[in-house]
Amino acid sequence: MEPLSRVILKSGKEQSIKRLHPWIFSGAIKKIEGKPAEGDTVEVFSNSGEYLATGHYQIGSIAVRIYSFHQVTQDFDVWTMKFKAAYDLRTALKLTKNKDTNVYRLVNGEGDGMPGFIVDYYNGIVVMQMHSVGMYLLRDQMTEVIKALYGNKLLSVYDKSEGTIPVKAGLGIKNKFIYGDQSVIEIIENKCRFSIDVISGQKTGFFIDQRENRELLTRYIKGKNVLNMFCYTGGFSVYALHGGALSVDSVDSSAQAVELTNRNVSLNAGGEGKHQTFTADAFSFMNDIRDKYDVIILDPPAFAKHTDALENALMAYKRLNAKAIEQIRPGGIIFTFSCSQVVNRDNFRRSIFVAAANTGRNVRVLHQLVQPPDHPISIYHPEGEYLKGLVLQVE
Ligand code: SAH
Repeated sequence: MEPLSRVILKSGKEQSIKRLHPWIFSGAIKKIEGKPAEGDTVEVFSNSGEYLATGHYQIGSIAVRIYSFHQVTQDFDVWTMKFKAAYDLRTALKLTKNKDTNVYRLVNGEGDGMPGFIVDYYNGIVVMQMHSVGMYLLRDQMTEVIKALYGNKLLSVYDKSEGTIPVKAGLGIKNKFIYGDQSVIEIIENKCRFSIDVISGQKTGFFIDQRENRELLTRYIKGKNVLNMFCYTGGFSVYALHGGALSVDSVDSSAQAVELTNRNVSLNAGGEGKHQTFTADAFSFMNDIRDKYDVIILDPPAFAKHTDALENALMAYKRLNAKAIEQIRPGGIIFTFSCSQVVNRDNFRRSIFVAAANTGRNVRVLHQLVQPPDHPISIYHPEGEYLKGLVLQVE
């Protein structure tokens, strides 16, 4: 084997990596010994020659994604151990052998020490999504580890990295099965049933990250008139009906999403005659909802994908939430979310504050919501926190 290329940092730039931050930015590099290609494993050293970490080299502002802070001899063992640790955590979280829930995130990138790598488990179907070339090149090796982990419970492994590996890497990636070919499956989450298609679904197929927030919703739902805005697969709608809502209106601008919601509602008992769907834009639908709803769920797509879109995104959250706060019935409950990584908790809360203040109604925060523990955040990598939500009560 060729010796690994060595990335030497500028003096003083080893501090963040000593604090276990998993990225090295190109500006921190003094020189590179060797000629690493994108995706190659490199070793990182301080200016004084001290070994710091091992990671995947990439061309761009993040130059190295660290996957080990110890020198690695047997690469395969590293991934096997990391998968085992990830699986053990999900087992401790009561997700792996749970008769009421058979969908969870197995690997959450930096939060599981595997930067740029996402693995979701859907009742036997595994979806991998790689965000770096280094991880992408390991896909067959990772599949072997996944096969060993799940044995005969494993139905298929689908690689869904087409939209997440930078095009400039020039790999011409297409989404495809690496093992088996089953793409559609029925899953259960907290006893609620959903039909999932990992090929056509958004992200890896389903928004697993709302599991605990959906469960919380059921506490507030009995006998209520509910609006689930941005319903997509109808996750919150199914839970609301399951929890005894009087009526649920589900709205999405995508006709395909509305169809998915209808299908998922019909998979579960309790929705008969109580559920209606609307293919409509959120902002126009919410122009005229005065005193119609006791509970409103607002789970929009990421309004800002980059920091330059931040101001517009905050305006959009403000407008959306103002419409809900203004018109909800007295005593009503709003579940409001942002899944934009660039919108931090404070910014989000401030935009809700401004929305509330403009309506003049009294608004209280009952819960502050986050992503669930199968989407762990490394304390050294706060960038991994993306989902935030508030449960509001409006007088
Ligand atoms: N709440 C869902 C996830 C929502 S994803 C869940 O729990 O699974 C965001 C959804 O918003 C997508 O389905 C998208 O089609 C829809 N959407 C995007 N822009 C919209 C708009 N302006 N009005 C209504 N729906 C919109």
